[in-house]
Amino acid sequence: MKAEPTARIPVCEPTLEGNELAYVTDALRSGWISSSGDYLRRFEERFAAFCGVRHGVGTTNGTTALHLALTAMGIGPGDEVIIPDFTMIASAFAVCYCGAMPVFVDAEPRTWNIDVEKVAAKITPRTKAIMAVHIYGHPTDMDPLLALARERGVKVLEDAAEAHGARYRGRPCGSLGDIAAFSFYANKAITTGEGGMVVTDDEELAEECRSLRNLSFPRGARTYLHDRIGFNYRMSNLQGALGLAQLERIDDLVGARRRHAAMYTERLRSLDALELPVQEPWATNSYWMYGIVIRENAPLDRDGLAAVLSADGIETRTFFQPMHVQPALRRYGADCSGTYPVADRLAARGLYLPSGSGLTDDQIERVCTAITRHLA
Ligand SMILES: *Cc1c(COP(=O)(O)O)cnc(C)c1O
Repeated sequence: MKAEPTARIPVCEPTLEGNELAYVTDALRSGWISSSGDYLRRFEERFAAFCGVRHGVGTTNGTTALHLALTAMGIGPGDEVIIPDFTMIASAFAVCYCGAMPVFVDAEPRTWNIDVEKVAAKITPRTKAIMAVHIYGHPTDMDPLLALARERGVKVLEDAAEAHGARYRGRPCGSLGDIAAFSFYANKAITTGEGGMVVTDDEELAEECRSLRNLSFPRGARTYLHDRIGFNYRMSNLQGALGLAQLERIDDLVGARRRHAAMYTERLRSLDALELPVQEPWATNSYWMYGIVIRENAPLDRDGLAAVLSADGIETRTFFQPMHVQPALRRYGADCSGTYPVADRLAARGLYLPSGSGLTDDQIERVCTAITRHLA
């Protein structure tokens, strides 16, 4: 279906044009609609394989995948988990669900990921894990982070909710630390509507996640005696059916985002007023969202540009607010003192452009023409 040239350009919409309808219908007809079934099992196996690891544990969403992974790692009250200051709120909330304390590190100005050089200063005897969030699809610089973590005896979790198909030095995101969490929310690179997955190569961690996601039911005999608190974070076979169909097309879906990003960069790079997303030589950016930063010298500020683009029928979204300004985290007791100038600047000046895999070349052209007109 071709969009009307004057229709509103959405910031992100899922594309469900493969076997989605057929697989979901088949799952419905089979009667396997809850959390066992072949589609779910195959989706878990194949998504783990896509990430280059052995185990996948489907969950209700990306936030519960993070909580499950942290709990399986043994994170609890009294522990600290280092996270980027510039991230989506779920990264921090998952740490709070464990009763642990999130500790913030400022962003690095090129990739907008956690500034690995600033991590060591935040490690204390209570630090149990570091969460690397691959912001907007650009992988975190993992080798120095992993080396530091190993030296200090700290585990590494990837929040890969924005990084399906991204790679670090050729290795897939999701395979880089001890364990990783993905989201399949409707705007992510592949979707199950709502949904998430923990992936890991560690058999024991995977077993812990399977047990915890299923209310810690005892294995074997049906004794109904639970020796610890568990959660119902089970993904359904219907979600698995949707996910499997999306996964079949993941190379095309991520490929479309990468191609759109190349078009944006080509058309916008001559504008002095903008900083564009990068792809470091060691990275394959999956460009989940194409973010731009509006420089101090621009004729319009970020909110001004968003307003005129909206009047042109172009949807955009502002970047996240950093963790250190979140009232909920301050109330929880997180240390929100200190300065985070890079995260503050991104929050004030960052805007992401229409980025869905279903965009047409004409729509991207329209966005670039409008931005050029407003910023020239
Ligand atoms: C989307 C997202 C999540 C949360 O995923 P949900 O499925 O919406 O719960 C967590 N972390 C990051 C970085 C995200 O972008």
